[in-house]
Amino acid sequence: MDIKDIPTLDDVARLVEAADTVLAQALTHGRELTEKGRRIDDHQVHCERLAYLATELAAARSLLAYTRAQAAAAPDPIVSHMAFAFAAEVVQRLRGAIDAQAPAFGPIDAAALGNAEVRTLVAAALDDARMCAIGAEQISRRGVNNCWLPDELATMSRESVRAFARSEVAPLAERIHRHDELVPDAIIAKMAELGYFGMAAPEEYGGGGMGNLVMILTTEELSVASLAAAGSLITRPEILTKALVKGGTDAQKRKWLPPVAAGQLMVGISVTEPDTGSDVASIQCRAEPAEVGGVRGYVINGAKAWCTFAGRANVLALLARTNPDARLGAKGLSLFIVEKDAFDGHAFEMRQPHGGVLSGKADATPGYRGMHSYTLNFENYFVPAENLIGEQAGEGKGFYLQMGGFAAGRLQTGGRATGLAQAALETTTAYANDRKQFGRPIGEFQLTQQKIGRMATHIAAARHLTYDAARTMDEDESRALEAAQAKLFASDVAVWVTQEGQLLHGGWGYAEEFPISRHVVDALVLPIFEGVKPILELKVIARALLA
Ligand SMILES: Cc1cc2nc3c(=O)[nH]c(=O)nc-3n(C[C@H](O)[C@H](O)[C@H](O)COP(=O)(O)OP(=O)(O)OC[C@H]3O[C@@H](n4cnc5c(N)ncnc54)[C@H](O)[C@@H]3O)c2cc1C
Repeated sequence: MDIKDIPTLDDVARLVEAADTVLAQALTHGRELTEKGRRIDDHQVHCERLAYLATELAAARSLLAYTRAQAAAAPDPIVSHMAFAFAAEVVQRLRGAIDAQAPAFGPIDAAALGNAEVRTLVAAALDDARMCAIGAEQISRRGVNNCWLPDELATMSRESVRAFARSEVAPLAERIHRHDELVPDAIIAKMAELGYFGMAAPEEYGGGGMGNLVMILTTEELSVASLAAAGSLITRPEILTKALVKGGTDAQKRKWLPPVAAGQLMVGISVTEPDTGSDVASIQCRAEPAEVGGVRGYVINGAKAWCTFAGRANVLALLARTNPDARLGAKGLSLFIVEKDAFDGHAFEMRQPHGGVLSGKADATPGYRGMHSYTLNFENYFVPAENLIGEQAGEGKGFYLQMGGFAAGRLQTGGRATGLAQAALETTTAYANDRKQFGRPIGEFQLTQQKIGRMATHIAAARHLTYDAARTMDEDESRALEAAQAKLFASDVAVWVTQEGQLLHGGWGYAEEFPISRHVVDALVLPIFEGVKPILELKVIARALLA
């Protein structure tokens, strides 16, 4: 197949519409089944299925919309092939799911997916020759992502972050990973100088006011160089910024947002506890009213787990229980800004003059190194009342502010995962060009081309789903669904693409000196944090779709 034989976008749209028609019926039945989402737990398996299928379809829609936009502005034939093939895969998976689980889907009319026209389009779209042609083209381009962007600010931002990430981050990424070092302050200082920490923060509080798309492009490019040593640095400030913008008092916004946006304060997010993860409303860490040295505030007691960057962070956004009545659940939680000193290393202890102690010890992990994730212990650690987000009025609102912040974090993770998958594509296409077996570069083999074609296609779908989620959040900060879908899909793509890339490296893919081995272990964390995959599917995506 010649890559220049471009499929028509009407054909792609036909497939997306067919899937849309049938999925809409499936969701209608899902709403009845779950009584508008109230009984999701009685139908978890099917709700997870619906959440995933809806997410894949959203990705197909985003890729189609992008393909249309770029076709009018700067057409690249490969994009239409990818949109066509991806839409057909989604139709095929939806049809397969309905065939296999007909009783769960209920009385839906799936004819739109099975008619002769759609079947012919699916067969044409999934022609092996098409995927091989996409892969061959990617191999010849060495996987480089120069996808068309709708405005100059976005294009220039991508170029400048890419230059920074390649020159300043990439050379250090392997050492930081292999020796489990902390991100050097030099990287943080340069990122601060370039304004990366406050890109999406409001201008009135020292941010760049550039919106979520530029922020996501920045995160994506940094993550191509290293997920842990740069790509994840903006995520925590973003989460705190969103929570403060939504729930902070004016004084708190003026006090905290400018130094966070300027990168003067590093941030950790402390929600998870050793015995409580997904069930956030049940956390036990206590904040009790106290007065220390004439200052009104709270003393914190309890343990926290997996607090990433807690050592180096200057402030922790800490979710703690201010109302001891466990029956209040989420309504008994408040969000605090906990100040601490910055520490290097894998363990620290912070002592306050009145005797309060915060200690932390990093848990060893196979990947996502560079920031370290700590188990924390708070003993009578004092926090002034002015550090409760929203002050008096913020008591009991911490859970909701934290969840709003997590939506921003998930959008970030869509960008992080896309960047990491892109890194795997670039290193794998380079390897496919350079590595010879049986007298030929392995990139000349049909199967290599097909695999790389699918990798690139899924990355494109993840990327444009994430960019669309960024635009949606620009319009409405309260939207949670789109960012959650971007996080879910892009994280899975990153896990799968890095592993495909590793296999294409053969034995060298298992060697630490080849970056693909780092990408594989880094990717594994993506479906875990900010709502582990099953919880994200059930409690965020299915809930939003079925309510
Ligand atoms: C490297 C790393 C960094 C992290 N960084 C941070 C951070 O900076 N700050 C922070 O607060 N947290 C952080 N986390 C924690 C992360 O957010 C949690 O691990 C995650 O939310 C899941 O919680 P858990 O580990 O307690 O799993 P659990 O809640 O115990 O869930 C385990 C599994 O049980 C099943 N399950 C649980 N509940 C249900 C249910 N209702 N229905 C169906 N199945 C269910 C699911 O399969 C789930 O995957 C990090 C984690 C890691 C690994």
